[in-house]
Amino acid sequence: MNTPNSTPSYQGSMLMIVAPSGAGKSSLVNALLQDDPALKLSLSTTTRAPRPGEVDGKDYRFASQEEFIAERDQGHFLEWAQVHGHFYGTSKPWIESQMQAGNDVMLEIDWQGAQQIRKLIPSVQWIFIFPPSIEALEERLRKRGQDDEETIQRRLAAAHVELMHAHEADYIVVNDSFDEALVDLKHILASSRLRSGPAMARNPALLRRLGV
Ligand code: 5GP
Repeated sequence: MNTPNSTPSYQGSMLMIVAPSGAGKSSLVNALLQDDPALKLSLSTTTRAPRPGEVDGKDYRFASQEEFIAERDQGHFLEWAQVHGHFYGTSKPWIESQMQAGNDVMLEIDWQGAQQIRKLIPSVQWIFIFPPSIEALEERLRKRGQDDEETIQRRLAAAHVELMHAHEADYIVVNDSFDEALVDLKHILASSRLRSGPAMARNPALLRRLGV
């Protein structure tokens, strides 16, 4: 039984969204964030070069390999992984401050990072986005016109590996219809906010009145 002393103090929800490149994950996350200002997106650090239109400090914190390794060795990252030949990491101080503030946090990371976070924060909710088909995935990768052929082939090969980890997720969302996938994500977010841990942490006065 939960007592006030053992009630988890984290009032927010933490969601991780994992998908192969081209599954449409970023568009879904952006739409979700626009509709829900209480949800905060973690800004990852990466050593990959910015794509056309990407802005440092908005899409990623872009860093050199030397900078990344120095920060990693100082314990700056809650998790980090090498993906498609580049380093990516989640800022530990940022996550800690958001958790202390009781905010809902979304992480857009790969399966390796998701496994690490789950070990550290078992209450995290892992969402996996499926593309409707491999053909659709390839078409989306080509349409965005930001990657050369070698990169596209590398990302398609990595997509198979990523998909093998879908069974580890708590939720699967199929991004066939964008609007339906967005509704699914909103439902997952709503249900994660009602989980007993965050919900009890948000209502200490009610718990006291109810003698829980
Ligand atoms: P992209 O280069 O296409 O933006 O991202 C490549 C992959 O790296 C995606 O699967 C993305 O989710 C993942 N990724 C982005 N940021 C992080 C991070 O901080 N940690 C980990 N482990 N993966 C990340």
